[in-house]
Amino acid sequence: MASRLLSDLRPDFQPLAQAFVDAVSASGIDMLVTCTQRSNEEQAALYAQGRTAPGAIVTDAPPGESAHNYGLALDVVPLVNGKCDWQGSHPVWQQLGALGQAAGLEWAGAPGFPFHELPHFQMPGWRTLAGI
Ligand SMILES: [Zn+2]
Repeated sequence: MASRLLSDLRPDFQPLAQAFVDAVSASGIDMLVTCTQRSNEEQAALYAQGRTAPGAIVTDAPPGESAHNYGLALDVVPLVNGKCDWQGSHPVWQQLGALGQAAGLEWAGAPGFPFHELPHFQMPGWRTLAGI
């Protein structure tokens, strides 16, 4: 099972992730962290979904190609009226994106980002840090 703990992130990424979570909390937005670190095995299973396994495609990253595999990304979801807003249409997502970027994170929901994934925030330059 993939981790939801900030403490499972890489030590040099934890302060940025924590600053993001703290800023969201201070702004009064309710948010859950749904994934931090994910093993290559878990990435393989996720990548298979919608390709060789049932379900919809949820990631374009094969094993070893996601910042989650190195503890350098986190996925979040806002709570709107007490419920997870998975649809991504609520304006609170833009607030989360802005807060994450202000904390120094890259947001995969930003215009022009190489892939579009609203819940995904990652360490700038993660590939260099991961050594890939
Ligand atoms: Zn992600």
